Amino acid sequence: MAKVMAVNCGSSSVKFKLYEMPEEKVLCSGIVERIGHDDGIFTIKWDGQKDTKTLPVPDHGYAVEIVAKGMIEKNIIAHLDEIKAVGHRVVQGGSYFSHSVLWDDDTVKKVESLIPLAPLHNKAHLTGYFAFKKALPKVPQIAVFDTAFHQTMEPEDYLYPIPYEYAEKYHIRRYGAHGTSHKYLSEVAEKYIPESKDKKMIICHLGSGASITAVKNGKCIATSMGLTPLGGIMMNSRTGDMDPSVYYQLLAMSGKDNETLFQELNKKSGLYGVSGISNDSREVEDAAREGHPRAVLAMNLWGRRVADFIGQYYVRLGGCDLIVFSAGIGENSPDCREAALDRIGEALGVKYDKELNNTIIRGKEGYLSTPDSKIKVVVIPTDEEVMIARDAYNICLK
Ligand code: AMP
Repeated sequence: MAKVMAVNCGSSSVKFKLYEMPEEKVLCSGIVERIGHDDGIFTIKWDGQKDTKTLPVPDHGYAVEIVAKGMIEKNIIAHLDEIKAVGHRVVQGGSYFSHSVLWDDDTVKKVESLIPLAPLHNKAHLTGYFAFKKALPKVPQIAVFDTAFHQTMEPEDYLYPIPYEYAEKYHIRRYGAHGTSHKYLSEVAEKYIPESKDKKMIICHLGSGASITAVKNGKCIATSMGLTPLGGIMMNSRTGDMDPSVYYQLLAMSGKDNETLFQELNKKSGLYGVSGISNDSREVEDAAREGHPRAVLAMNLWGRRVADFIGQYYVRLGGCDLIVFSAGIGENSPDCREAALDRIGEALGVKYDKELNNTIIRGKEGYLSTPDSKIKVVVIPTDEEVMIARDAYNICLK
């Protein structure tokens, strides 16, 4: 038995979960938010209990100290030495990493070199790594990349039809995201299709960031997110794929500068942009149910984009055995699932049970499809942290 920590360091937060491995028992979890502020927030959950404190958190190093102290104070561990490995989520691994690796100087150099592709994320992951290294100097740490699972894509699936020398020189290509989640879901999902030879799945990770992946025999064949998390399906506040000329024209017509416009495509578009209501899909759904015309339009647009990708991946895979819904929206929103399923039913012979769609929410797993559906449809809650803990245990301690 060994205690292993899974962490996700953002630019102003450190999320953590401590596991007893290999049992995968969660000992505690929590988050330090508002790093860099006088009113930072530390939340820790353990043994059915929860504690929240507001305190100044000047930097990531201090955040790690707070987490360490918190775990000792709550008697979750007696000493920091009990933690035997730390796994970090890293958003962008470029073409360098097709699996998780130990953090060493080479990993640092490569993660650093990828900062231009994920400026906020990769910078924060490095800061987090160094903060943990200072607090736990003897403990091995690993990096688990969101892009690694998608490295099995073929050039036809990851290249953009731009001048080839740009793709080569600037490493411009589709990298995808949420790979750790897609990998977890594809592994859990296999039990639903024991009879299938090729295990063709379309996995819909639908959270505030969202991506759809085509998986065959456990390997990623294609994924919707692109060079950055702006691509793919329409999201809560991001556009997803669009004609690049939209950007060019808006730049010329609105008079806004490059950066402002780019931020608007990331933060003011998608369900939020079309409905004008909120970047939380729940509020858009509520308004659509009350008949708000632009909220209805936003939901319809969203459903069509998701359906389009499912159709595209059905063709790419040469069929499909299973469709999986997961993440915040996929696990919790009957309205969004319905918006997508209603648009693929006729073409793909997908039938689902409305009652099940209304009840499989909040962490439940199970079928949405009826027995006569041509493709099985299931909801599976995702768990990226356990994948990080598994890799940390397997790489460092096995
Ligand atoms: P994630 O990024 O996976 O944490 O998903 C967060 C998003 O999921 C939120 O922004 C909401 O759009 C959506 N969401 C979370 N909870 C619910 C819920 N109970 N019903 C509908 N949507 C939800």
